[in-house]
Order: sequence, then C-alpha cells, then structure tokens
Amino acid sequence: LMHLTRKLIEIRSMLLSIDQSDALKLPSIVVIGSQSSGKSSVLEAVVGHEFLPKGNNMVTRRPIELTLIHTPDAAAEYGEFPALGLGKITDFSAIQKTLTDLNLAVPAAEAVSNDPIDLRIYSPNVPDLTLIDLPGYVQISSLDQPETLKEKIAGLCERYIREPNIILAVCAADVDLANSPALRASRKVDPLGLRTIGVITKMDLVPAEQGAAILAGNRYPLHLGYVGVVAKSAGKKARRENTAVAAKRGEDDYFGAHKDQFGASSSLMTGTSTLRRRLMEVLESSMASSLHGITNAVQLELEEAAYQFKVQYNDRRISPESYVAETVDALKAKFKEFTTQFRKPQVRAKLKAMLDDKVMDVLEQLYWLDKRAPELGALAADPKVQPDNIDAYWRHKLGAASSLLTKSGVGRDSTLLVADGLRALIDSIASGEPFTYHPKAAERLIQFSHAILRDRINIASDQVENCIKPYKYEVEVEDGEWEAGRVRAVDLFDKEVVMCETKLKEIRKKVGGSRRLNGVMAYVRGLEEREKERKVRRLTAGADAEESAPEEPESYRYPPAQILDARHAMLYSDRLNILKLRLAALKSKRCRGGPDNDVFCPEAFLNVVADKLAYTSTMFINIELLDQFFYQFPREIDSRLLYDLDRREIVEFARENPAVQRHLDLQDRKDKLEEVMKQLNSLSTLRADAQPTPRRQ
Ligand code: GDP
Repeated sequence: LMHLTRKLIEIRSMLLSIDQSDALKLPSIVVIGSQSSGKSSVLEAVVGHEFLPKGNNMVTRRPIELTLIHTPDAAAEYGEFPALGLGKITDFSAIQKTLTDLNLAVPAAEAVSNDPIDLRIYSPNVPDLTLIDLPGYVQISSLDQPETLKEKIAGLCERYIREPNIILAVCAADVDLANSPALRASRKVDPLGLRTIGVITKMDLVPAEQGAAILAGNRYPLHLGYVGVVAKSAGKKARRENTAVAAKRGEDDYFGAHKDQFGASSSLMTGTSTLRRRLMEVLESSMASSLHGITNAVQLELEEAAYQFKVQYNDRRISPESYVAETVDALKAKFKEFTTQFRKPQVRAKLKAMLDDKVMDVLEQLYWLDKRAPELGALAADPKVQPDNIDAYWRHKLGAASSLLTKSGVGRDSTLLVADGLRALIDSIASGEPFTYHPKAAERLIQFSHAILRDRINIASDQVENCIKPYKYEVEVEDGEWEAGRVRAVDLFDKEVVMCETKLKEIRKKVGGSRRLNGVMAYVRGLEEREKERKVRRLTAGADAEESAPEEPESYRYPPAQILDARHAMLYSDRLNILKLRLAALKSKRCRGGPDNDVFCPEAFLNVVADKLAYTSTMFINIELLDQFFYQFPREIDSRLLYDLDRREIVEFARENPAVQRHLDLQDRKDKLEEVMKQLNSLSTLRADAQPTPRRQ
C-alpha cells in the first residue's frame, strides 16, 4: 500500500501546479512550533541529514514544501529545487546554503513571505512523505522582530493548517504544553485533535516520569497521539561523525536508559523511527480517505476545463512555438504587403514631389523676389526678342537656377526621404498588433531595421549623387520632355494659385470681409510709407535729429493681430500677381515653342531637370537601398527577432499576448487534469484489485 502514498504525493504536486486553491488539495504534513522548540532538529532527524538554515535571526522566512521520495536503489542521496534548475545536489550543506540564501532574500520589511520553496529529497533512507516547514511562532517581540511579524507568521501558519493537512505540533518537553503556540493553533482548527500529531522534543531535559506523563496525553488528548523524541546531536564528539547517526544514538541511549517509563510495555510512542512510521501511517490513511473526494473534485474540474476549451477554442491546440512561427509569418506577410508602396513609380512620385518643392524654392529665390521679374514676361511676349539676343542677365539666371537645383544635395535628400519612409513603415508595423503585446520584440525589430538602413544610407546617397553628377554640368532637353515639363509647371502653378487664393480668403474671413481687409492693408501700406520717409529723413538729418524729432505716436486703429494678417495678405496677393504673370508666360506661344526658349520659361526647364533627377535617383535608390533592405529584412527577422530565442524565451514571448496566455493556460490546465485523472483512475483500479472479492455462498 506504500505505493498509494507515493503516487498520491506525485499527484499532489501536480495538483499544486494546476492551482493553489483549496479545492484540489491532497493532504500534507504541516510542521508548526515556536522558535527553538526543536522543529528543525525533528525534521532533520526524519530526513537523516542536517540541511535546514541555522542562526539566531529567524532563519525560516518562507514555507518549505519538503517532498521526501524513497528511492531504494539510489546510489546517492540528493536534493533538488525544481524551480531553480540547479540539478541534483548531493552535498546537503549546499542545500542548507541554498535554503539560507532563499530565506535571506526575503526583504527585511516583509519579514516573512507566503511564497513556498519547493525542495525534494531523494534517498533510500527517507520514507515517502510531504512535509511543510513553516516559520516558527515568535514568543516575544523584539526590536528587530516587530509586533506585526507575530501576526504575519500566525496568519501564514493558519492558512497551512487548514483541512485536509495533518498538523505536526512540535512542543518542547521543558515548556508547559499550556503555553505551546503550536497546540493552541491546532486546537482552533482541529478541536478534537483528529488530524494533529504532537511531537514532544527535548525529552532528555525533564525527568522521565514527567516526560512519560506528557506522552500519555491525558491533559491535552490528541486522537493521533504524542511521540517523544530526543533530537539534539550528542555533543562535540558527535559533530565530527555524521550528526544524524550521532543524534540517533543519543536518542536510543536515552530511551534505553529509561525502559521503566518508555519500555515496550508502556505503549508510549518514542523515538525518531517511531515518529517516521507514525507520520507514514497517518499520511497514508489521510491520503486514502481523500482519494474518493479528490477524484470527484478533479473529475468536475476536468469536465469544466474540457467544456471551456471546446466552447472558447473549439478544441484547437496551440503551442508557444506555433504562436512564434505564426507571428513571424504574419510579420513577413505584412511587410511584403507594405513594400508595394516602395515600387519604382511610387518612389519616383515621392521624389518628384520633394524636387517640385525645391524647384519652387529656387524660383522664389531667383525670380519671384526679383524686381525685374515682370520684364521677363514682356520679353517673352515680344516676337522681336530671340533667345540668343536676350540680356545676358537672364541667361545667367537660368544657369544659376539649374545649378542651385542640381547641387542642392539631391542624393542625400532623396535617399533620406525613402529611408524615412521605410522607417515609418517598420515603426507602424512594430506599433501595431501583435507587437503591442511584445514591446521587447518590437524594440528589437526597430533596432535592427534601423541598423540596416544606417548601413546603407551613406553608400546609397553617394551613389545617387554620383549618378546625377552629369546634370550639374549640362541638361539636354528634348521637345517631348519640354512640353511635358511645361504642362507640369502650369499644373504646379495652378495649384500654387489656388493655395494663395484660399489663404487670402481665410484671412479675409478672419479679418471681417474684403472691405475691412483692404482698409487694414491700406493702413499698413501707409505705415510702411511713413517708416520709409522717416528712414530717409534720419539719414539726411544725421544722428542728433533723432532725438529732436520724436516718433509721432501711432494711433492704434487696428489690433496688432489684424495688422499681422494684413501683412500676410499683402504677401499672398503679391505672390498671386507674379504667379499669374508667369502662368500667362508659360501658356504663351513662346513657351510652347520648345526647349530653345528655356531662358524665357525657367519653370518648364527646371521641371524637366527635376524629373530627370527623380528618375535617376529612383533607379539607384532602388538598387542600393530598397533591394538591399527587402533582401535583408526578412532574413534578420529570422535570425535576430525570434528564432534565436530559447525554449524559456519562446514561452515568455507567447505569454506576453494575453489571448495566447489564456489559451495556453486553459489547455495546460486541461492536460494536467487529464493526466491526474488518469493516474487517479489507475490508483482506484489498483485498490479495487487489492480488496478481497466477496465470495458467493
Ligand atoms: P527550532 O528553532 O524550533 O527549529 O529549534 P532547533 O531544532 O534549532 O533547536 C533549538 C535548540 O534546541 C538547539 O540548540 C537544539 O540543539 C536544541 N534541541 C533540539 N532538540 C533537542 C533535544 O531533544 N534535546 C535537547 N537537549 N536539546 C534539543
């Protein structure tokens, strides 16, 4: 029947990993006692090794879930901390050290922690048992052990001594049982003592008669009885040998020396071996009686989990690995879909738009702000003027405009423009689902894609700059190109005109109608006139006149905001005038006449240049930046984003997504419950077989 306890201990730890609720709990033995009652000594005697933390300053701060596994054929005895992944530890002083570290890691402010330490010990010398060691009850509060600590420990113990657990109440023989916090706590939850075993330590410290009286349990009867032990190691000499062996000998010596009180005829339970046997019996019968109840509970939980799994996920199984693979596939697909925005025509259009802006800037700088600009229109309209006899001034202007455009850093600007587009694309992927759940992966995605871009940008922009170099010296324009450029220039100007008119309309509305705006504008013009006059006067009169002629105070006829609006309106209407003049020129016979007339129509010419620049830049950006990026990016996803994760990181990644986490949790719960159910079923058949079959009469 020992098989049963063993199996149920396994099942118990599986159930613990499913959930911590009381519903699915198999019994364990919970060890409670006040500090220095000899709790550690008893546990170490049961295990046969010294392994618990020692020290004056409350050393057990977390519950220790101690699972003893009897392994008859084990070559070595060893311990394991499943949660820490340290492997088999054969040196028990290393176990002691680890336990001490784990306990000391609890912050001083917290003092005790509810989070249990899972320790398993495999040995031919231990019985199959589960024991939970809890922090000892504090008797007196001191400075470094505040009052709340007392309550915290009591609360922790209270939670563990609930049903179905068995309580091992450790009391020292030399302390009146009436004062034992362990017995007091046990009586609260188990008044009849049906699931409490008393352990009386330090039997050697009281007269044998007194010890025997305690064990008889007449004053505080316990259904499961008291076991008396002497668990202390026997002096200095013993410490050099195996402590446990020495302790055992000390105990045998003591009870052997008091046969009158504790001999076979006394029916009192004494000694560590008796304690072990008693613990095994009690745990086994408690487990056996829990079997039926736990089987039903697990069955119910399993049905519920299976139902939920069907309803919520239609029985679809997932794994962290499959989620990672799906995420990578989706990422690549999304990326591919987005890259259509970066085909050549799209890129060319983007670059052209950027270059159109540059053209407008150049025109503004060299032509629109030039006072002589209207002359150019008149020259274009005059059939007598030919391109070769026009004033050298205009020829020079055109050359300057062209080189201002070609030498404005087109290579760098266009490469950066495309790179920025790619960056924005990646950023938008990284900030969308499912990467909202995976901030670390999103950051890595952004990091390595930016790194690829950084590597390529300089090469690409140098290449582009190099390839547009010829245009810095000469731009040949064919008739077809000219006409197309002229039409596009007209189009751009039309748009610019619409923009200026809209702005003017907005201002007119804001100021309060065109009459009002005209009024403000006239006033501003007057101000400007007077300002100019003043300047002239100041110049002619010299410095001293400034003080003698104080500025006449302006009457504030309009609020400053309106004056500012009027100034803007004046700029827009000036701009409109020149745009309209130039539009007329662009539509004139002269400009329609072909590339020979470039000097009259710089807009058309610059537009052709911009188009050529956009075309060439696109070609080389495509080769040097886009192709490279589209090749590298998916490969980097494979090597840097997810596939270099180990199993633990894959699970962590998948669980970052709450929907996946819920799915995995439920699936996991169902699997574990199924496994537990299988084991429970095999146990009941085992027990049924063991029952004698009633014979028919
Ligand atoms: P804990 O604080 O409850 O874990 O108690 P310990 O096991 O550390 O024991 C407290 C002190 O009592 C130690 O100095 C032990 O050596 C001593 N001690 C424990 N058991 C016995 C015993 O059976 N007899 C004697 N004389 N001393 C004991």
